[in-house]
Amino acid sequence: MRVSASSSGGKRSPLPFPRLAVFLLGTAIFALAPVSATRADQADEGWPMHGRTPLEERFSPLSQIDRNTVHDLGLAWSYMTGSDRGLEATPLVIEGILYATASWSVVFALDAKTGQEIWRFDPEVPRWKARHACCGVVNRGVAFAKGRVYVGTIDGRLIALDAKTGTPVWSTRTTEIGLPYTITGAPRIVKNLVIIGNGGAEFGVRGYFSAYDIDDGKLVWRFYTVPGSKEGPHEHPELVAAARTWPRDSLWEAGLGGTVWDSMAYDPELDLLYVGTGNSSVYDREKRSPGGGDNLYLASILALRPETGELVWYYQTTPGEEWDYTATQHMILADLDWNGSTRKVLLQAPKNGFFYVLDRVTGELLGAKNFVHTSWASRVDLTTGRPVKRPEAHWSKKDAMVSPAPPGAHNWHPMSFHPGLGLVYIPTTESVYSYLSSSDFRFRPGLWNTGEDFPRLHEELEDFGAIRYLPCGLTRLVAWDPIRQEKAWEVLHRTGVPGGTLATGGNLVFQGIGEGLFAAFDAANGQRLWTSRVGIDIMAPPVTYQIDGEQYIAVLAGVGGSHGNHQTRFEHDNAGRVLAWKLGGKATMPPVRRRPIRKVARPPLDVPPETIRRGREVYAEVCFTCHGMGLEGSGVYPDLRTASARTHDQWDAIVRGGIRTHKGMPSFADVVSAEDARAIQAYVLDRAWHEPGILERMLGVVVDHACIPVSWMTD
Ligand code: CA
Repeated sequence: MRVSASSSGGKRSPLPFPRLAVFLLGTAIFALAPVSATRADQADEGWPMHGRTPLEERFSPLSQIDRNTVHDLGLAWSYMTGSDRGLEATPLVIEGILYATASWSVVFALDAKTGQEIWRFDPEVPRWKARHACCGVVNRGVAFAKGRVYVGTIDGRLIALDAKTGTPVWSTRTTEIGLPYTITGAPRIVKNLVIIGNGGAEFGVRGYFSAYDIDDGKLVWRFYTVPGSKEGPHEHPELVAAARTWPRDSLWEAGLGGTVWDSMAYDPELDLLYVGTGNSSVYDREKRSPGGGDNLYLASILALRPETGELVWYYQTTPGEEWDYTATQHMILADLDWNGSTRKVLLQAPKNGFFYVLDRVTGELLGAKNFVHTSWASRVDLTTGRPVKRPEAHWSKKDAMVSPAPPGAHNWHPMSFHPGLGLVYIPTTESVYSYLSSSDFRFRPGLWNTGEDFPRLHEELEDFGAIRYLPCGLTRLVAWDPIRQEKAWEVLHRTGVPGGTLATGGNLVFQGIGEGLFAAFDAANGQRLWTSRVGIDIMAPPVTYQIDGEQYIAVLAGVGGSHGNHQTRFEHDNAGRVLAWKLGGKATMPPVRRRPIRKVARPPLDVPPETIRRGREVYAEVCFTCHGMGLEGSGVYPDLRTASARTHDQWDAIVRGGIRTHKGMPSFADVVSAEDARAIQAYVLDRAWHEPGILERMLGVVVDHACIPVSWMTD
């Protein structure tokens, strides 16, 4: 553990902010009150929790910055996070202090008026854990209560820090470190509990989330999202019902998935905690759950009593999930006029492409319409509450091209809700993907275990003439009307970066839009009103707050991990930063360094073609989930084709010896033999000399032709 306090200490604004309890009360009341577009009271000035309120609308009533003033926005300050991997955190702003996280679960506190660092805490996560992170060593932020900041770390700890100093108060282990669990989500505080889940379903884990005592970190309850066996004994009664939806010969050793890696919301009035659960492990349904079954509680929304973890209702978005269609996406609690009466609803736009409106008191499905092209299901039947699946989308026995792709129609990038306009602003992606079942699958603990035939997929991808995968897709900002269940407006972005969104009382929507840009849109009609050239891409959701009468917009910039494939990274570095703007801001945008163009450092190895083929096969099985299809690097991992002479000299020591573990490249000696390591090297050099990367070619298509038309996709 390491804590450092800035030498300068940082000037704090002497703000007479109310304490957290008042924040909670104030924001909860606000959520039920009409929007005041003129003057925000004090409780509205901060960003005290992940979605700003427990209802997670990600709407702030602050209105100093509006369509008339937004052109005067200038940078107020910047802070370099010292990281070059993906940044996904929502900053919290409490009593003038901004708390956020960078990659490797590092936490920092800044003066929210100046950007001056107050403290920084590095939990010193063992770097080998990068092997267990499907989508980068990212972190989506902290929770705050009782003068403490709470963070989940990539190696599975939940840590409480003193908010003034960053010193640990308590730390508890929430997952077994040797198992491929990770924590990337932000904890949530409900009453006297800290709630945290975890991820890892791609590798084969059993999903659960836990509640810890806020004062000492002791476990209060744990809810498993899938059963551990058919017969039990089951840890809690909800699993008895779940076990009925799994065949006896299910692949229990794979853990079955259902991880809770991101979304939660809380309704203080109903006293219900809402949790979204993740995809299956393994994806391939016949391998996982032979003969079918709904497989509860995969891809579900759960409503629970926070004090006991008792399940009150559930809704499964994708019964028998087999396409990586998590329901871990952001949930918003709102009150809507629904056919003449006010309904308390829960809104979610999960990966599967349908926008769900649920009665959050009972779990009744009120509406579900697709917001992107969806080929796995034609519609959702409101009578049964179930999707009407297309038989040809099942891929266990026959290859299938399906929309959306595993990254989803909407991933973790938060959406936002403007209660006055009644619109939800969703970062969406159109995509399609080849699901190819592996004929010789066996569960391999700790490795990628989706049941897909990656060597065959990789081979298919190398034939770019038959382009069948669209990882960047068509990225849009969609304003969705949840009552009419249709798009109110949409904006098409040129590159595949779905940034999180923020809606404000100034009737603006803020979003990172790719190409190194950050923009403000008119929340009513989508007109782009203001653009800032940041230089690197933004995935994280912006927040807003007000100090000494000035409104700020703040966001973390830096890409990598899931959706880490961004055009700008080919040209620029990815030095992470926090940026804050205000009206009349005069600070200088931190520069972005151009990347030197690297040359291939070695001639191809003199090996027979079988060795290169073998290298491709092992690469597809072990390396490509991080290093990318076509070797171009996945986001921020190095482009192996331009590996240096030194890297080639040390190839075996890196791949098998683990000499770059400290950089997040652990040893793979347990799964890659010396001969195979050499074959991978031969494959890499062969590709380096003979082919540009798939992604580069694909981005060329996207940029040159303003994305591939939707009509190209299969139905
Ligand atoms: Ca997943």
